[in-house]
Amino acid sequence: MSNIEKTLSIIKPDAVERNLTEDIKNFFIDNDLEILSSKKIHMSKEEASEFYKVHQAKPFYDDLCTYLSSGSIIVMVLEGENAVSANRKLMGATNPKDAEPNTIRKLYGISIDKNSVHGSDSVENAKKEINFFFKD
Ligand code: UDP
Ligand code: MG
Repeated sequence: MSNIEKTLSIIKPDAVERNLTEDIKNFFIDNDLEILSSKKIHMSKEEASEFYKVHQAKPFYDDLCTYLSSGSIIVMVLEGENAVSANRKLMGATNPKDAEPNTIRKLYGISIDKNSVHGSDSVENAKKEINFFFKD
């Protein structure tokens, strides 16, 4: 049975800086995820801290928020069959060193922090994250 979902994707500063936006967008399109909305923004550290607050107890939280607010990012709503898990599969493991071949993080990621993309990890979080950036 068909299960069309939406998920939130972010192209992080390391990838935007290296002009990988079009390559990453095409990777989604070529793998059956449609880009419903896309915008380039530059978050403040306060906004990044709000977005990543599920990680506030983690030792990497402050660096993560500093990093996400360090440059322009592209936030996108992706739609497709099982989009949440499909996107996570296309992204690859958090640490590019552990990512499967032909995943975004394997192809483009630099390190565990500069890993080129964010993707929602559940349907529930996808709804929250889409609403965070795209309030109608
Ligand atoms: N992160 C990090 N150090 C770590 C773990 C995570 O810098 O030891 C960063 C990394 O950029 C990751 C983000 O924090 O993408 C969120 O972590 P999460 O575990 O949610 O990984 P993801 O869902 O992005 O694969
Ligand atoms: Mg996550």
